[in-house]
Amino acid sequence: MAQLSDDCFAFGRPMMTVAETVALITSRVLPLAETESIPLCDADRRILARDLIASIALPPYANSAVDGYAMRGVDLPATGERGFQISGRVQAGSGERVTVAPGEAVRIFTGAPMPAGADTVFMQEDVRLGDSGAVILPAGLTIGANMRPVGEDVEAGAVVLKAGRRLRPQDIALAAALGEIRVDVSRRVRVAVFSTGNEIVAAGTPRGPTQLFDSNRFMLMAMLGRLGCAITDLGILPDDRAAITDTLSKASSAHDLILTSGGVSTGEADFVKDAVESAGSLVFWRVAIKPGRPVAMGVIDGTPFIGLPGNPVASFVTFAYIARPAILALSGAGPKPIVSTPVRTAFSYKKKKDRREYVRVNLRPAANGSVEAVKFPREGAGLLSSLVETDGLIELAEDVTQIQQGDIVGFIPYSSLY
Ligand code: AMP
Ligand code: MG
Repeated sequence: MAQLSDDCFAFGRPMMTVAETVALITSRVLPLAETESIPLCDADRRILARDLIASIALPPYANSAVDGYAMRGVDLPATGERGFQISGRVQAGSGERVTVAPGEAVRIFTGAPMPAGADTVFMQEDVRLGDSGAVILPAGLTIGANMRPVGEDVEAGAVVLKAGRRLRPQDIALAAALGEIRVDVSRRVRVAVFSTGNEIVAAGTPRGPTQLFDSNRFMLMAMLGRLGCAITDLGILPDDRAAITDTLSKASSAHDLILTSGGVSTGEADFVKDAVESAGSLVFWRVAIKPGRPVAMGVIDGTPFIGLPGNPVASFVTFAYIARPAILALSGAGPKPIVSTPVRTAFSYKKKKDRREYVRVNLRPAANGSVEAVKFPREGAGLLSSLVETDGLIELAEDVTQIQQGDIVGFIPYSSLY
């Protein structure tokens, strides 16, 4: 387990910016030391634990990039056409040793090894077949055209994937191309999750007329799953300090992070902060972010705790901007800021200074080939449909107080948040 001291987040102020919060978390949370070797086919989204070094060059042998005719570049006609006698044929996968002699061409296909002596390939579309098996090449091709030299893609010995990278399908393809069958990754971050609230019940159990089915836990578990976490589902806890304290204490020993939703605000039934203080220590509980302001952070027996607000949209946004960096830090992922794409707003909007706001939007094509963001018509932090029916978030920085229709703003697709 990551062993944190109770006061490791101590310089947190009561109201912190998102950047301060993330900087604090990522500087204090220690990456898990344990790694595991896993089959490449299971490696998507896992965090690479060691640099991957190319044991071979790619391509490992010089080969043709096209279907055509291979010949020696020095034989190329400077002007006019020239006929070459076809002296052989080489297919992809052929182990036969083929040599091209001066003035000759070899019929070749994409991916086939270059014949000895050949350094240039004419595309079959660019040549004419002459009489008696000759091929007639036009002038104008540069020496080396359509030939893929050894190591053009990757040189042997190069570091191709750095430790800390969250593996993507194309990274896995590169490892496979190098002949790797397993990769070393950091072990999965073990996260215990529970919801809180007397009004929250689990789907599949009876729901009273003043109760809600739990949605946050499923959303958070799905997001955690995408981040490669091993999840312990601790269900739903009532608004009861003792019950929450007990669960926090028990969960801390076998987990790297405890993540909850609900009960971190200032209402009478918001016992999560109290419970964190009983079981360990609470370090801050307000982040200048909307939706989401009440976010609790704590340490319980050396294990970090993050308490997200109960409103589903607030839970979603604070997971993405506060819990996700903590999980990535635990898993040893290298820092990779979420980069927004500039788009034009199709709306005007006012906001409070000194807090960061995330506005739910859809993108649509606009005049002159640009893209514009259309705000979801309603703003409530409890509206799950607002997340379901939009493409992503517009990020409005702390110093912004209003945006006008037509302003350029930063758009973040949901897909980059988990
Ligand atoms: P809280 O943060 O506990 O004050 O909750 C804020 C709002 O979010 C309340 O309206 C809760 O009913 C709602 N809420 C809390 N937890 C959940 C949950 N797990 N699923 C859906 N809604 C929730
Ligand atoms: Mg509550």
